[in-house]
Amino acid sequence: MMNPQEAIDLFASDDLIGIGMAADAVRRRLHPEGVVSYIIDRNINYTNICTEYCTFCAFYRTLGHKEGYVLPKEVIFDKIQETIDLGGTGVLMQGGLHPDLKIEWYEDLFSSIKKRFPIHLHCLSSPEIVNISEVSGLPLRDTIMRLRDSGLDSIPGGGAEILDDAVRHRISRLKCSTAEWTEVHRVAHSLGMRTTATMMFGCGETIGQRVNHLELIRRIQEETGGFTAFIPWTFQRENTALARSVKQEATATEYLKTLAISRIYLENFLNVQSSWVTQGLKTCQVGLRFGGNDVGSIMIEENVVSAAGAHHRASEEELRRIIRDAGFVPRQRDTLYRAYFLN
Ligand code: SF4
Repeated sequence: MMNPQEAIDLFASDDLIGIGMAADAVRRRLHPEGVVSYIIDRNINYTNICTEYCTFCAFYRTLGHKEGYVLPKEVIFDKIQETIDLGGTGVLMQGGLHPDLKIEWYEDLFSSIKKRFPIHLHCLSSPEIVNISEVSGLPLRDTIMRLRDSGLDSIPGGGAEILDDAVRHRISRLKCSTAEWTEVHRVAHSLGMRTTATMMFGCGETIGQRVNHLELIRRIQEETGGFTAFIPWTFQRENTALARSVKQEATATEYLKTLAISRIYLENFLNVQSSWVTQGLKTCQVGLRFGGNDVGSIMIEENVVSAAGAHHRASEEELRRIIRDAGFVPRQRDTLYRAYFLN
């Protein structure tokens, strides 16, 4: 396995193609059948009200702001029905850290969804779960168990950004710490739930801090095996406070190099996603030769990175075309990365 110093050295290399080929070899070993997967699902952002003021975020509104909202259940039900009608298998539901929504609100929401729809609920990032446990005065483990028992199937890796407290202090001072993020995932894994690991890079972190992030999630995966995938993307500047100090977004080269090094470093992750939502379809397609074996969601709805300037759009047919053109077989999967249709 690659060690942190070797990863840092690789970041310093300008042999982009060589790094890509090494990542492609790892991808080929783990996915010799040449399939690239995607999912049909929808992001539902149940509230944009948040108390954390992360400087990279253009999505949140403060409590009392005229654009603040909490979606009524009926609206959420309509969005889920629409997702199912479009062939979708899951929803990724996330929101701001609302100071007044206690666990009963989420339990009621999840159980009423499960009563109505056969849909996978991939919801609530670590910061939201920590917030729910604090607002409700419950231990973290009890919080996750109650959410699971009400219908939560798996947990997305959002809120990781860079898992290094010096970076977090600069870009998301109030939000959960590295230890809290990892605790949520460890506890969820110990309860038999699967989660994903993410990384938002290009927010002014050092390469060493980026590698620390990879090292930490690789260690958790060694202990628990509970991550289904690693999903890296780049900081989007538009409408964010952090844009004042981070003047430029990561380039395609930096994205591809980071994707490839992640693929090589995270040997114990089966799936690594190439992102079209933040990189566009063309870079995403190249990413399939830099270690990516999945292109994520067709995104019937997305509000968070689009608030920060990522406006790429794709239909299922377009995603299938870029996958095929890159030399792979496209296949729809479910949230847990199982083949959904053999198409
Ligand atoms: S990233 Fe999440 S926690 Fe931070 S301000 Fe935005 S909505 Fe709130």
